[in-house]
Amino acid sequence: MKILVYVSALALVGSCASLSHKEKIQAITDNIEIAQPDQLKTYSKTITSRELKEHLYLFASDEFNGRKAGSQGQKKGVNFIKDYYISKEIPSPYPDSSYFQFIPKAYLGDDYNDTENVLAFIKGEEKPNEVIVVSAHHDHEGVDKEGNIYNGADDDGSGTVALMEMAEAFKEAQNNGHGPKRSILFLHLTAEEVGLQGSRYYTENPAFPLENTVANLNIDMIGRVDRYHENNPEYVYLIGADRLSTELHYISEAVNNEFTKLNLNYKYNEENELNRYYYRSDHYNFAKHNIPVIFYFNGEHEDYHQVTDTADKIEYDILEKRTKLVFATAWQLANQENRIIVDK
Ligand SMILES: [Zn+2]
Repeated sequence: MKILVYVSALALVGSCASLSHKEKIQAITDNIEIAQPDQLKTYSKTITSRELKEHLYLFASDEFNGRKAGSQGQKKGVNFIKDYYISKEIPSPYPDSSYFQFIPKAYLGDDYNDTENVLAFIKGEEKPNEVIVVSAHHDHEGVDKEGNIYNGADDDGSGTVALMEMAEAFKEAQNNGHGPKRSILFLHLTAEEVGLQGSRYYTENPAFPLENTVANLNIDMIGRVDRYHENNPEYVYLIGADRLSTELHYISEAVNNEFTKLNLNYKYNEENELNRYYYRSDHYNFAKHNIPVIFYFNGEHEDYHQVTDTADKIEYDILEKRTKLVFATAWQLANQENRIIVDK
């Protein structure tokens, strides 16, 4: 494992001549030890393409009317998510067990109704005050004037069901006495499509102090394959991993080398990349507050923000693998000895 990490470390800093920088990277990678790898493997197996598919065919069905923030369809969507957590006995972090963080319509502007984030929580065993936030947005574009429904299966039904499956895996571990050392918050955000408003609201009104928020792993579209990867679909774009914490980048690489072996593509992480994805989904509201983030993304495709972004077009085996990568990263962040260091 360490040899693989070492090689990728050299690859990343290849252009950097400074020995001290190399030594620093070496020290970081030497320090990474996968926490309870056997248990990680065991609980990772509970994340299955079959269950992801079952959830997504429901969540991205016409019944939810495109889940436009504040609409009746979106309310159905958040109740679907809440009912799932209740059925799995995964609690809300709020004392009233409501699961919902209400966002008044005044916050979003005149065209919207009240809306809500959904929060589910697994409390850490040893360091419960330190929290890993795993997030995805549940809202989408609603219905057009002709009544066509934007189902948003990839955007971001894929991230929504990934969170549900990860929460189930952590819960099962906890039930068997293998609960995480740190806490994990499953944060289903609203109004991403209205300009990242749900995450802006959450970071202004956090359930746990931001200084105790260790990292944010944000998923927005991980169920499809873009045109650059038709022949090698086992990939995912990672954005932001090295921007605030060098350690986070190498943790992500290490768990991928050990478990999921996806091709991690950093093309969109380039500083002056024209699409500016680093600023375009909910993780940015965490990064803004100096919280290290990773944004997981499959790239754009012909059905992006079209009524054709439907559940039948999702590649469920790939979705499973990518979900397992996020799970393994969250597991490591929650269970390793030290809290990751912010060094940039
Ligand atoms: Zn999205």
